[in-house]
Amino acid sequence: MSFDVQAARAQFPILSRQVNDQPLVYLDSAASAQKPRAVIEAITAAMEGSYANVHRGLHTLANETTEAYEAARESVRRLLNAASGQEIVFTKGATEAINLVAASFGRSLNAGDEIVLSEMEHHANIVPWHFLRESRGAVLKFIPVTDDGRLDMDALHSLLGPRTRMVAVSHMSNVLGTVNPVAEIIAAAHAVGALTLIDGCQAIVHGVVDVQALDADFYVFSGHKLYGPTGIGALYGKTDILKSMPPYQGGGEMIDVVTLKTVTYADPPHRFEAGTPPILEAIGLGAAITWLDGLDRAAVAAHEHALYARVKERLNGANWLTEMGTAPGKGAIFAFNMVGAHAHDVAQVLDRYGIAVRAGTHCAEPLMRRFGVTASARASFALYNTLEEADAFAEALTKTRTFFA
Ligand code: PMP
Repeated sequence: MSFDVQAARAQFPILSRQVNDQPLVYLDSAASAQKPRAVIEAITAAMEGSYANVHRGLHTLANETTEAYEAARESVRRLLNAASGQEIVFTKGATEAINLVAASFGRSLNAGDEIVLSEMEHHANIVPWHFLRESRGAVLKFIPVTDDGRLDMDALHSLLGPRTRMVAVSHMSNVLGTVNPVAEIIAAAHAVGALTLIDGCQAIVHGVVDVQALDADFYVFSGHKLYGPTGIGALYGKTDILKSMPPYQGGGEMIDVVTLKTVTYADPPHRFEAGTPPILEAIGLGAAITWLDGLDRAAVAAHEHALYARVKERLNGANWLTEMGTAPGKGAIFAFNMVGAHAHDVAQVLDRYGIAVRAGTHCAEPLMRRFGVTASARASFALYNTLEEADAFAEALTKTRTFFA
């Protein structure tokens, strides 16, 4: 198989709109990706054709909707190559998934237990662990980041020890684009008896993930970056570990028996899915995964790399730009600062040319501090971007410079 970008692009209705009288060039997919027709239509079809609450009914619509919801879980299982659907908990997104693990697993922590994170984490993979520092006296340690944006693996080994209980790192940085050696990190964590959580928000979009091959204990991602709807994501957890964990939230669906004096809990994954779940969103995510299944993911990854390489080639020698993250094999994310201009201003000028990029801290303030900046602009590429768009971005950036030179 190969990848036909025009055919894929045609599946995204929003991409034909104009912004500021220019064709939209959407380079903000690392924040949230646009949605293909398959996703839009799956959600509409569910609402129009078969919708009810899940798991509790004996009527036809309830059963059909439950089947569709559980089929979406099976799609996520397949996507991650998890051993069983029991290992897939639907959450609101990666943020909720990490909060779930921190709150539930975190109850077993004692003062002085150590959690190892990295300097390149998104706040979603820092703040829930700070809660445990505040509430349980956990000690947070951070793997440093090298100047080119890699994790300092020697430092990782010196941070691990008998008190390490959890190592939680991103698979791919949402700013630097670095793809971290997570299999090696997981093995090192396991060697000292620690669990591992991998934040796969970006990696799941750009490559194939196999949680069993990685031997990850937890793996999280958000559906909206994977061409699915907002409000849905997944937590993968190994069955035995999930079974050993107390519930995160209480309510309907997560119980076994409730009396006025006692309560017992359902098995995973339902133990962690209190209340009416995001049914339509899960169905939409399932549709996104099925749609992606029809593409050659290796060819998609090669296409995305070509977009990044094209931007680099066009901007070659631009001494008025500094890129954050130049690690070998990095993914298709280009975070940068323009000499003499604030990232926010750069993003606003680019918008005049119809080009959507993000600017700010990208929810990674410690990383900004590490690189001595307060913010950066970021162009992030998705499968629907074209080489012409990469050229348009590079050209608009060069014109933007004249505003500030
Ligand atoms: N981790 C990474 C690496 C991310 O890129 C993001 C989203 N920017 C998150 C976590 C948080 O995802 P969400 O806001 O969808 O929960």
